[in-house]
Amino acid sequence: MSIRFDITARKQAELELATENVFRRQAENLLRQIVDTIPAGISAFDTNDRLLIYNDAFKAFYPKVADLIQEGVSFGEILRTAAERGQFAEVGGRGRDIEAWLARRMREHAKPTQTLVQKLDDGRWVQILERRTADGLHVTTRADITELKVAEQTIRKQAEQDSLTGLANRTAVYNRVVRLLADKAPQGLLVVTDLDNFKAINDTLGHDAGDELLVVVGRRLAGAVRKSDMVARLGGDEFAIVIDGITSRQVAERRLARLANCVQQPVALTGRTVQPRISMGVVLMTTQSKSRRDLFREADLALYQAKAAGRGRYTFFDETMLKAAERRQSDIEELRMGLDRDELRVEFQPQVNLQTGEAVGLEALARWQRCSETVSPASFIPLAEESGLIIPLGTRVIEISLAFQASMRAKGLRPGRLAINVSAAQLKLDDFVETLANQLSRFRLRPADIEIEITETVLLDRSIHQIVRTIEKLDALGVTIALDDFGTGYASLSHLKQFKVDRLKIDRSFVADIRPEDGRGVIARTIVSLAHSLGMDVVGEGIETQFQSEALRAIGCDIGQGYLLSPPLVPDETERYLQQRATVPVVPSMRIVA
Ligand code: C2E
Ligand code: MG
Ligand code: MG
Repeated sequence: MSIRFDITARKQAELELATENVFRRQAENLLRQIVDTIPAGISAFDTNDRLLIYNDAFKAFYPKVADLIQEGVSFGEILRTAAERGQFAEVGGRGRDIEAWLARRMREHAKPTQTLVQKLDDGRWVQILERRTADGLHVTTRADITELKVAEQTIRKQAEQDSLTGLANRTAVYNRVVRLLADKAPQGLLVVTDLDNFKAINDTLGHDAGDELLVVVGRRLAGAVRKSDMVARLGGDEFAIVIDGITSRQVAERRLARLANCVQQPVALTGRTVQPRISMGVVLMTTQSKSRRDLFREADLALYQAKAAGRGRYTFFDETMLKAAERRQSDIEELRMGLDRDELRVEFQPQVNLQTGEAVGLEALARWQRCSETVSPASFIPLAEESGLIIPLGTRVIEISLAFQASMRAKGLRPGRLAINVSAAQLKLDDFVETLANQLSRFRLRPADIEIEITETVLLDRSIHQIVRTIEKLDALGVTIALDDFGTGYASLSHLKQFKVDRLKIDRSFVADIRPEDGRGVIARTIVSLAHSLGMDVVGEGIETQFQSEALRAIGCDIGQGYLLSPPLVPDETERYLQQRATVPVVPSMRIVA
């Protein structure tokens, strides 16, 4: 007897299962081949975070744990071992750092999806995309983005680099200071510095030499600080230095002395030797509450102070400077209103021919009649220059002076030549000479009736070409030019030959040196002979004693001006002075009291 079972269904099922297994194996093989062919690193972890599948590219990212990477190993173990073996550039060597880093990385890993960038110890950058699937698997891909990162860093470096010196630029130093200020307890020093007399060097030695000097100074500054500190060029001849980790003024002072000392070693430029010097404005960064903008403003104020105090030095910022700046601003406002209210006055100081005793001219000197107080030009002219008010102010001085000159002539008096002081900003106006010519003809005066006084510093202005053009136009018009306060600035002999200057005014400090005890007035004597050899007249300013007047006359000084001869006079007094001079011939050394 035989029992027969119909096993078709079972065989069918077995066949299906075998087929399915073959297919699955084939599918798995195929999948593995695909995964291995993909250039990106692929890995998948199961619900227990154990490695399920990975490719060679994944393994190649982490050579330090290549021995560990195989199916079944946990994500945490790969990560910890790699960190401990120094696979990641961002993980510090100390134990606590590794623990903190691992904890952070595991938190990231737990997120459903995320993208992160990792830097490896060999300099490669990896971009990682992690995603948790619906059934709880963890799938990740990794791409090598090193080239992209290097390009990005190059672009960032270029954007933060000064092209002339190769130092950091303004953007970079601003970012650095912002980062420092973000610290809970910032510690550091911000120094803003400026090369002294850079304009003069640029002017006399040329722009190439100027550029070379900037490169040398930048290199010296960078050499005087640690690699971790920052030296940046802000533009022009301005640099900023950020030194980390300084809290005490004493330590700061040592660093500043070192900076100044490194910079001021002689430099050979186009055959000349220059000794560069810097002025520095300094702020200690110790409070978090300040903004980057505040900090740079404070450093600028301190620099302004350092320069005002005589350059070649450093000044620490203190709160009084802010107050002084605010006061300056409100004084400028006052001056603006004063000009609107017509509070500007002009006094006239007589000039006398020292050889003949004849009154030859007047110098117009501005005064600000602020209520009952007469403000000296020494305090308001700098404000006017700083704020641009010098233009309307200067125009008004010229107008008042010409009107006075014309009215004296109308009264039959002989005021002589009228000297008017002008600032660089006025000489830079395109229409300065045209306007002056119009004003002269309005008052029926000749160009020879006036003289324009410029100071030596005008000749060192950045816009010197414009100024030279104006001076040439003035000369062509027939107006004489006097170089004021001669000997105090940096005008060289080449300036005197280059510019059409008709007379030199010896600065009163050199006249003050002429004293019976010791002063034979060597400088005054030298200026007189220099001027005469160049065909110029000389005016001695600030003559206060008979001795000075006689000494100047003896050395051939042409004209004298000073309290001994007459102080500056208000218009009425000037008129009386001129009347008196018209009738009584006066010995030059005699004091005239109006
Ligand atoms: P500055 O052009 O060198 O004028 C001569 C200054 O010396 C005047 O000072 C005058 O009062 C003073 N002074 C005259 N004789 C003596 C003396 O015997 N002893 C002493 N110690 N001083 C004497 P002030 O009027 O205070 O003017 C100061 C400066 O302000 C002027 O120096 C000039 O550079 C500037 N300034 C005056 N008015 C104007 C102006 O209208 N425009 C411009 N841009 N600057 C002006
Ligand atoms: Mg003058
Ligand atoms: Mg002067």
